[in-house]
Amino acid sequence: MANPRFHRILLKLSGDALGGNSPGNFSVPMLQQLASEIQQLQQQGIQLALVVGAGNICRGTELEQLGIGRVQADTMGMLSTVINGLMIQDVLQRHANIPCSVLSAISMTPAVCEAYSASHAIERLKQGHVVICTGGTSNPYFTTDTAASLRALELNAQVLLKATQVDGVYDKDPKQHPQAKRYQRLNYNDVIQQQLNVMDLTSICLCQQHHIPICVFNILQQGNLLRAITGDPVGTWVSDSSAKSGSRRQQNS
Ligand code: UDP
Repeated sequence: MANPRFHRILLKLSGDALGGNSPGNFSVPMLQQLASEIQQLQQQGIQLALVVGAGNICRGTELEQLGIGRVQADTMGMLSTVINGLMIQDVLQRHANIPCSVLSAISMTPAVCEAYSASHAIERLKQGHVVICTGGTSNPYFTTDTAASLRALELNAQVLLKATQVDGVYDKDPKQHPQAKRYQRLNYNDVIQQQLNVMDLTSICLCQQHHIPICVFNILQQGNLLRAITGDPVGTWVSDSSAKSGSRRQQNS
């Protein structure tokens, strides 16, 4: 692998990505492919924190349409991220022998997993664990994209990698418009003003404010995770002109 540009990264995995192309909640081949790629990062000494979504199980806004109160529905969504985190942990440990810790922003200790705190997560990263951050922000009305930006900041990650099922950010929906153009680079302001489908506004604004570069890429294509951290062209990069990728200093590290 070429020299990595980043030494601590935050990977946001949407729930849908865990399903791969399969109709079920989980695609084990997809998770095994992910485990193999993460193993290669580990071998390079790259510290990896994951924030996992829950769209493969439930989203608060979808449950709300069934008549469930929003706070309750969001709580169910956040709990679903813990299920996904435990699934990822199992595959990483059993398929690739990768040490990992599932930490939850919603207290579930000691039966299910440990409680999240930034200092504990950093400690585990330094011990060589993949840290799987679950439970979102622990607050309703937020998303796991915002949790990802927040964790990237708290853990001094140098980059936020947003894994999706499309190749990056397009000017139009590529499923409906075959001529849609993929952007290679964007400014945060382009994303905000044009309301491009990258991450929700709160999470973009957090990244903009703190100069965290974002790479939106297709996780289903093997090798893309490694490409994103070595600088090979992949997906769409979102940053601002003053932000140099990987230039954030790791405080507390
Ligand atoms: N959620 C929440 N607060 C958070 C993070 C998530 O209430 O801080 C809930 C919300 O209902 C959301 C669900 O958890 O729909 C799953 O997260 P998300 O939709 O971000 O998952 P993804 O789309 O990434 O799979």
